[in-house]
Amino acid sequence: MQYDYLIVGAGLYGAVFAQQAVAHGKSVLVIDKRSHIGGNAFTENIEGINVHKYGAHVFHTNCKEVWEYISRFAEFNRYTNSPVANFKGELYSLPFNMHTFNKMWGVVTPDEAKAKIEEQRKSANIAEPKNLEEQAVSLVGTDIYERLIKGYTEKQWGRPCNELPPFIIKRLPVRFTFDNNYFDARYQGIPIGGYTEMISKMLGGAEVRPGVDYLKSKGEPELLAKTVVFTGSIDSYFNYCYGELQYRSVRFETEVLELDNYQGNAVVNYTDRETPYTRIIEHKWFEFGKDKNGADIPKTVISREYSSEWKQGDEPYYPVNDERNNDLYLRYKSLAEKEKNVIFGGRLGEYRYYDMDVVISAALERCKIVFGDNL
Ligand code: UDP
Repeated sequence: MQYDYLIVGAGLYGAVFAQQAVAHGKSVLVIDKRSHIGGNAFTENIEGINVHKYGAHVFHTNCKEVWEYISRFAEFNRYTNSPVANFKGELYSLPFNMHTFNKMWGVVTPDEAKAKIEEQRKSANIAEPKNLEEQAVSLVGTDIYERLIKGYTEKQWGRPCNELPPFIIKRLPVRFTFDNNYFDARYQGIPIGGYTEMISKMLGGAEVRPGVDYLKSKGEPELLAKTVVFTGSIDSYFNYCYGELQYRSVRFETEVLELDNYQGNAVVNYTDRETPYTRIIEHKWFEFGKDKNGADIPKTVISREYSSEWKQGDEPYYPVNDERNNDLYLRYKSLAEKEKNVIFGGRLGEYRYYDMDVVISAALERCKIVFGDNL
């Protein structure tokens, strides 16, 4: 055997596993079919701006252990995510909070906002929410559902809201305060210097070979290892033998503009059904010039994000965790459990809508089982 561990996928799960394995004195090879490391957190410096090439990644966690762990590999800035929703030219604050309720209904106090939501929830007659639509209406009422959720969600998931699981919308906080922070998280920020630099530090000590597709090169002598950590999609590993799991894919249209400031915020969501993209990211606002209106870099980079159904050959981004897909995943999972010396992990390996902190935590937990301790 060439290596103790072959790690397939240089995203966060793979990077944590590699870092721990190396710290425990193991020999590690990390491969990735892409030409770069970082997985979907990959950032690329364009015109002095760290561009989130696979969509916005804002690190946030409530777990002190995860925060302390990741802070060993990067210093984090004080970015706080507060997206703006654009519905047909009208702007609303996200997540749903007193600014949103005031703009929507003119209400001023938390009690007035609660009363409005309760009135709309009652007339929709929802007791126990069974799908995303019912969950959304019961959390924020029909007006907000219609303007800020329905169109966006149907573009994002390509399915009607009453066929989607309720947990998706429960990711977002609803607040009866004027707090625009998108996350209920004690720790939040973006690594100064970008995610690629951070992940490269985590991979220090491992051998890293981008541009190698495991499923095509499996069995080649130079990839032989005692244990494989596979972070690609679990159905692809088994050659889709039970059929494909469903994913959503995303396409980014990225442009460099000769402007200081395009939209005044890192994230603007387009929540109507007609605009073909879901959101526009203006990358410089994740890190630069908040006090100088962005003029420290007289250019800006924006990405429009288009969502589509995944098909083989596309990049899978979001697992569609409805009942049918979750059941199919369980069949793959039982195959995975029988696979000797292979560990499956990460958003694609475990078919879960994981945030970055949960990926790190899952990888650290796994490493504790394998190596006995986290170093
Ligand atoms: N969502 C919405 N309107 C918005 C933003 C989000 O309806 O303006 C819903 C949508 O269904 C989305 C879910 O909330 O899939 C979770 O949003 P989040 O921002 O957590 O998604 P991510 O950043 O992971 O794409």
